Amino acid sequence: MNAFDEAQKQLDRAIAASPITEDLHKRLLKPEREVTVSIPVTMDDGTLRMFEGYRVQYSSLRGPYKGGVRFHSQTDINEVRALAFWMTMKCALAGIPMGGGKGGITVDPRELSAAEVERLSRGWVRAFYTLLGPDQDIPAPDVNTTPEIMCWMSEEYAKLTGDTRNAAFTGKALICGGSEGRGAATSAGGFYVFEALRSRIGLPDKTVVVVQGMGNVGGGTAKIFVEHGHTVVAMSDSKGGIYSESGLDPAEVEKYKKENGSLKGFPNAEQIPNEKLLELSCDVLVPAALENQITKGNAKNIKAKVVLELANGPTTTEADDILFERGVVVVPDILANAGGVVVSTYEWEQNLKNEHWSEKDVLDKLRELLEREAKNVWERSKKLKTDLRRAAFALALERLEEASRQFIRR
Ligand code: GLU
Repeated sequence: MNAFDEAQKQLDRAIAASPITEDLHKRLLKPEREVTVSIPVTMDDGTLRMFEGYRVQYSSLRGPYKGGVRFHSQTDINEVRALAFWMTMKCALAGIPMGGGKGGITVDPRELSAAEVERLSRGWVRAFYTLLGPDQDIPAPDVNTTPEIMCWMSEEYAKLTGDTRNAAFTGKALICGGSEGRGAATSAGGFYVFEALRSRIGLPDKTVVVVQGMGNVGGGTAKIFVEHGHTVVAMSDSKGGIYSESGLDPAEVEKYKKENGSLKGFPNAEQIPNEKLLELSCDVLVPAALENQITKGNAKNIKAKVVLELANGPTTTEADDILFERGVVVVPDILANAGGVVVSTYEWEQNLKNEHWSEKDVLDKLRELLEREAKNVWERSKKLKTDLRRAAFALALERLEEASRQFIRR
């Protein structure tokens, strides 16, 4: 699976439904800049190991590059390029003053000690700091990168540049300039989008939910749905899942995973493989892990009424078509998981102004923005008679178009 090919296919399909200028299309075919580096890290045993690191700066049409840094064994330049493209579309759809970028390191951080992860994180910043900064490129967390890692990165950046405003990285812990509400922002945002669309889709007040993934986003999403009276019947991590018809307590599941390293043996629940989990009967399926989970291979078996994409790129275009035909509503990633980058932007703004906003202010502002954009995407899909992904792309492209018009051609 080539994530960037998929991303480009999505773009082509959206353009076919809602045309853009040739100039903008040309600008969006390739990233403005992409850099691959080798990062030397002294391991705890004194040996030196080299890690491959990436930053793709896809588009600065609407502002500084913005997007997370992913630590994963499967991460490569192609994946990062796709993710950077999706950030471009996501920021444009949200209407925040940011372009799109993404970074990563090919590494399984579970194989490293905390001290090694810290040295690796600081090494990534040393490799890229001249390309970063509050008005240049602002990284954030993604898969396997935590608020603590963002603090190390932010501090390393301050040491190298003398810029101590903490505005070059977002998703930081509160203690080093993070924002209230950022930790919960992606899952809360997904829930706000869901709430805004629920009755339009025709779902009841209380739904049955399946969540794939137990990182910050998957865990947080399971919790917020349960807090609002929904039933989460299944959860999973990368090794496998658990199912309970009467519902799981996400806090208990998280605690168990922390203590036991996996969900194996979780009491009063059935063990199920990840592939099965996606095909369970439910109202809402939330992929909150990696790309390429719902494909032409399993799309016909998906029983959910709604797929709420909290991961980036979990559904392939072939699967999109099968689901659309079957009447399954896919709420696309660039809308459903935009809460993270929106609150990241609020964090950046607070850092630059030296302000600290309350959690309520942050989440109220986020809710208002996402309710508005969810409605816009829904209405656009009706107008274009197409799926929500094409509609979301169409809106994002319109905003990129506005931005590209300010560039005078010579
Ligand atoms: N990694 C998140 C995403 O994929 C957040 C990015 C950010 O906060 O800049 O949207």
